[in-house]
Amino acid sequence: MQEPQRIHRDAGGYPAAAAETDPLLAHPPPPRSPAEIEDEEIEDEEIEAASAACCRICLESETEPGDELISPCMCKGTQQFVHRYCLDHWRSVKEGTAFSHCTTCKAQFHLRVECLEDNLCRKMMFRLFVARDVFLVFLAVQTVIAAIGGMAYLLDKDGQFRNSFSDGWEHILSNHPVPFYYCVGVVVFFVMVGFIGLIVQCSSFNTNDPCLAGCRNCCYGWGILDFPASIEACLALAVIFVIVFAILGVAYGFFAATVAVQRILQRHYHILTKRELTKEYVVEDLRGCYTPPKMDPEQEQRLRTLQLM
Ligand SMILES: [Zn+2]
Ligand SMILES: [Zn+2]
Repeated sequence: MQEPQRIHRDAGGYPAAAAETDPLLAHPPPPRSPAEIEDEEIEDEEIEAASAACCRICLESETEPGDELISPCMCKGTQQFVHRYCLDHWRSVKEGTAFSHCTTCKAQFHLRVECLEDNLCRKMMFRLFVARDVFLVFLAVQTVIAAIGGMAYLLDKDGQFRNSFSDGWEHILSNHPVPFYYCVGVVVFFVMVGFIGLIVQCSSFNTNDPCLAGCRNCCYGWGILDFPASIEACLALAVIFVIVFAILGVAYGFFAATVAVQRILQRHYHILTKRELTKEYVVEDLRGCYTPPKMDPEQEQRLRTLQLM
């Protein structure tokens, strides 16, 4: 049985005493130059920086499997590291080239292309988000209509207005206060939408637009109209006003609803698709050694088409 060899190490980690006792070690390692010592110090600093590394987005230093701190670009110091998850979130919500480039140093990421199978869960999430937003808009409109209906009910506390609809087919409505005032709310809502839509349309015209001149003439035309002599004529005019603005309101409301649904769809589709794409185009960890990336031209073209590059 051999006695375990005792090797004494100096601060540099080299077996200093071993050279004297062990005949096999005839050539002791040469003494280290100042440049080598400096190199080692820099290395130590880097190790220290890595141990104190924290994410430039969330400022946390904890990591989890699959969500490690990576160094994907030319940024150094406190900006060097970022959580993979934080970076992917940033890439999916930020517009423009943030998907493929660092927004600070503008360096292009090294993107590894991964093939993903169609994710059913993501599609369900998309539908859920869209449904939620459409429902919220619907709820807001219903709240406004209910508020107008409630106001109409308070103004017509004695039921005089409601009872004036008691003849003909309208009595079906006027029999019950809730549907009656709800209908009043709907009509007033569309009149308001028509009115606001017309104002927005008029104000968006160019001052030199001949259309505006016509519009202005039309508005003045209403102003210089002789005030109707009888109450019946006045009422008839009011009814025409309400009908015209209500029809306009329905048209504008339809237009606004279409635009709103489109925006909701686009927003969620965009974010979800980009989130999916961050999983498809994975940013490589370069560990502080940045080199210009070489990407497959086909993939590059695809990212350019999607305006992500
Ligand atoms: Zn983070
Ligand atoms: Zn950077």
